[in-house]
Amino acid sequence: MNDCIFCRIIAGDIPSAKVYEDELVYAFRDINPMAPVHVLIVPKTHIPSADGIDGTNSAVVAHIFEVIPKIAAAEGLVNGYRIVSNCGPDACQSVKHLHFHLLGGRQMADSMA
Ligand code: 5GP
Ligand code: ZN
Repeated sequence: MNDCIFCRIIAGDIPSAKVYEDELVYAFRDINPMAPVHVLIVPKTHIPSADGIDGTNSAVVAHIFEVIPKIAAAEGLVNGYRIVSNCGPDACQSVKHLHFHLLGGRQMADSMA
């Protein structure tokens, strides 16, 4: 059994608040939102982090970045938004399945880190 929590969410074994899905990508609301809009966008294939992106799987990442503006528009983020992907221990990545945080609905802090 796959013990990756995001793989289990994608499979429907763990409930989630879905905001978008297609054949390559699943997006759902973060369980602990850090902004009025906080959506996680994940590839359906298990890639451990941004450090695992290479020529064999980068097409899904390009696709995610085509999907992000659609989700942002659907969420009403007309004034902008922030995309974050934590990678590895120094960045405090807690779930080892590549994901992009879409944060918006308020003014973000000027400092990124
Ligand atoms: P990371 O720290 O790896 O960049 O982000 C992981 C994110 O996943 C966190 O913001 C956390 O709140 C979210 N998360 C962890 N477990 C669950 C879950 O079971 N459901 C949902 N919707 N989000 C989760
Ligand atoms: Zn996974």
